[in-house]
Amino acid sequence: MKKITLSVVALTMTMTMMSYGQTQCKSLTKDSIQCKNTTKTEVLLCHVHNPNHVSSSDKVTVICSGTTKKNTKCKNKTKDTSGLCHNHRKD
Ligand SMILES: [Zn+2]
Ligand SMILES: [Zn+2]
Repeated sequence: MKKITLSVVALTMTMTMMSYGQTQCKSLTKDSIQCKNTTKTEVLLCHVHNPNHVSSSDKVTVICSGTTKKNTKCKNKTKDTSGLCHNHRKD
């Protein structure tokens, strides 16, 4: 029996390694079924169940600090930490 147990462990480990980077959330939903969201975090909790997750809606919206071609202040709103909208960010 020991051999079977070992191979199961090895298989489980291989599967875990293969799925690393996109793991199913280990938390349960309100209906007590496993959450179907995938996560890339080490805690194996999706953005819904991870209490440390900072969703983009939690971030403060600011007016872009960039300037337009007409040399006026950009009016776009952004949640990026750089304070620049998608037009003014370089990446
Ligand atoms: Zn979840
Ligand atoms: Zn801008």
